[in-house]
Amino acid sequence: YKVAICEQTEDPALAKGLVSRDVIRVVTPGTLIESSMLDEGKNNFISAVYMEESAAGLCFCDISTGEVFVTGFAGEETLGHVQNELGRFSPREAVLSAGAMKNDRLTGFLREQLGCRCESGREACFEEEEARRLASNQFPEDKIEELLLSGAAAVRAVGGLLSYLYETQKTDLSYLCTLLCYGEGQFMELDLSVRRNLEITESLRNKEKKGSLLWVLDRTKTPMGRRLIRGWIVRPLLGPVPIRRRLEAVGELVDQPIRREELALALRDITDLERLIGKVVYGTVNGRDLKALSAGCAKLPVLIELLAPFASSLLRETCARIDPLADLCEKVDRAIADDPPFSIREGGVIRDGYHAEVDALRAVQANGRDMIAGIEASEREKTGIKNLKVGYNRVFGYYIEISKSNYDLVPEHYIRKQTLANCERFITQELKEMENTILTARERLETLEYELFSELRACVAAMVGRVQRTAAAVAQLDVLVSFAAVASANGYAMPQVDLSDVIEITQGRHPVVEQTLSGSMFVPNDTHMDCGENRLAIITGPNMAGKSTYMRQVALIVLMAQIGSFVPAKHARIGIVDQIFTRIGASDDLASGQSTFMVEMSEVASILRHATSKSLIVFDEIGRGTSTYDGMSIARAVLEFAADKKKLGAKTLFATHYHELTELENHLDGIKNYNIAVKKRGDEITFLRRIVSGGADESYGIEVAMLAGVPGAVVSRAKIILKELEDSGVKRPANRPKTSVMEEPEVQQFTFEDTRTDEIIEKLKNMDVNTITPIEALKILYELVKEAGEI
Ligand code: ATP
Repeated sequence: YKVAICEQTEDPALAKGLVSRDVIRVVTPGTLIESSMLDEGKNNFISAVYMEESAAGLCFCDISTGEVFVTGFAGEETLGHVQNELGRFSPREAVLSAGAMKNDRLTGFLREQLGCRCESGREACFEEEEARRLASNQFPEDKIEELLLSGAAAVRAVGGLLSYLYETQKTDLSYLCTLLCYGEGQFMELDLSVRRNLEITESLRNKEKKGSLLWVLDRTKTPMGRRLIRGWIVRPLLGPVPIRRRLEAVGELVDQPIRREELALALRDITDLERLIGKVVYGTVNGRDLKALSAGCAKLPVLIELLAPFASSLLRETCARIDPLADLCEKVDRAIADDPPFSIREGGVIRDGYHAEVDALRAVQANGRDMIAGIEASEREKTGIKNLKVGYNRVFGYYIEISKSNYDLVPEHYIRKQTLANCERFITQELKEMENTILTARERLETLEYELFSELRACVAAMVGRVQRTAAAVAQLDVLVSFAAVASANGYAMPQVDLSDVIEITQGRHPVVEQTLSGSMFVPNDTHMDCGENRLAIITGPNMAGKSTYMRQVALIVLMAQIGSFVPAKHARIGIVDQIFTRIGASDDLASGQSTFMVEMSEVASILRHATSKSLIVFDEIGRGTSTYDGMSIARAVLEFAADKKKLGAKTLFATHYHELTELENHLDGIKNYNIAVKKRGDEITFLRRIVSGGADESYGIEVAMLAGVPGAVVSRAKIILKELEDSGVKRPANRPKTSVMEEPEVQQFTFEDTRTDEIIEKLKNMDVNTITPIEALKILYELVKEAGEI
């Protein structure tokens, strides 16, 4: 929902007639800044999408941290790029231009896949000229130059977003100035299925961080670091230079464990500088937030000192960007009391000794309180009423309270103010005078403290740029320290990253599975792929052997290397890939009206259309969701297409239970067969988890079913059926020499009674639709339906 907040906009005491009121802010899902409603480890993005026929612009902004990202696309397949980018940022709300709003696939994707609220933006602000004007007013000049290079569509998206923010936030948004313009070629594009299948930020099964790559890599200590590591993981780099800079920094931190630990300890005390400074500028900060901000900044000098000896360029740069912000700490600590109240309007925020008038007014208050206590004592004595009490409430001010049993002792000069069930409340002249002094002091104190607080807030707000830069540097340091801590703890190695076409991994492991195995060791495996002889690996082997784990492990190692992390392997050389594609598992997308097989084929289609020879593709089973003939034909055709240098020639891992496909190694260039070894003794199989050269021709499906606990009766029956099928020559015996199955249809796993179907088709073909009567047509239809039912 969107919630409009209305407030009185003038002081009721000074207003003439009706007090003016106005909407002061519209709270929307994408513009939250209240920390209680935000996850501190995640950004809360709002986005704007501008779309025309063959161009699109996207702008993302987290107003709680002040970050703004912009990109633009042109050419074919714009929608695909837009969806991938939206998926990467997962905005909570999207402001759409008219062109984007009309695109049902886009709005469907936003609403159904991302659970994002779609808003129509002001069309006039998506106009290029207006958008450029809005952007120029918001961002510094050098940023505008960068923005213009991103293309007109990107500028238009910025215009659409800014106008929406101004309209809903109605406050100073000058702190939104860290604009990052990026284009194709800077970050690896990750589509939804890769993010899902490789379980990058959440697990497939329960959509939680636990069990994901992020879960393994995230040992960050600050909220800024937690948000940035997520950003790094979904934005792998494509250039060897920035990747190597990160790796070098991580390497240095790995080599200096003690200093790294000290850095981690110092980072732990750093508060959410990014969101706190956002609140300061926004005007929603209170005394406690300012204290938290200064407490966080107090650790910055320690970081600078600890970073001083490091030599890698990224760490040196990070160190240089950390501002110790001593002036901020000093100002806040001098002005704000140690334990300030939540409210900034009721006093108690300003520290004693900071301002002479505050101190004087407090003395009056304290004095007054003592005098009130004195009045209580003396009235007790004068009246002889032992339980006489002096109290205070907002309506009547100070009063003397006397219980029912003592009414006859009440002196004449007491003025009755209020009667309660068991007592009466009175005032006296002396009490009224005292009250006046105290309340005047309190009112003045509250106003004065608020003024002093606002002054301080404005002063800290003016430091926004320095705090934002420092926060960004701290976040980066936190992520690098986290990568190094994980690398040390898990025994990762620094990958060699270059622009070759080679993926060479020695003793690679799956980063997540190795952490979750209990009681057994993860078995490492090697990988060698390139765009020559080892382009395409066909991986066969029994169910449960570890095919999927192996393929994901290769993809994850490549991804980890490209985000600048060490990798779970003994050695790794990674030639940068432009994109990773996966087609894994079966999932329905019933909400968007797609069956399991349709989803599978759409994903295959998308991969074959978008992959290049520099991509890495993981195909885990293709064609299993349809009939054996269709499935195997599709699998083989896809395999041929992927392997063919003239068509695609991408590095591809292809797991399959269609053992017949292993034949292709002998016919096509660049294909190698691998299988995952198992040992079989009687009915029992032992998984060795070792990948070895050569194809397998057994799936041991029944043995795995037995392991899974399928009832004995079903397992024995399955064995009998398998035997019958094998005896009738339908299934190829396990040890039979391999033959090219595609050329010998009689050895397919199953046969179908499809001759009847041919008959029906033949009948239909022979019909002359122009000459038959409706009754005849109905009769033929009836017969056809009957025949079809018998098949
Ligand atoms: P299917 O053909 O049935 O899909 P699969 O061959 O793809 O099976 P995986 O799902 O990859 O098998 O692996 C099954 C389980 O084996 C994993 O969940 C993991 O626990 C374990 N496993 C896989 N690889 C290894 C390994 N290298 N070392 C130790 N355990 C492993």
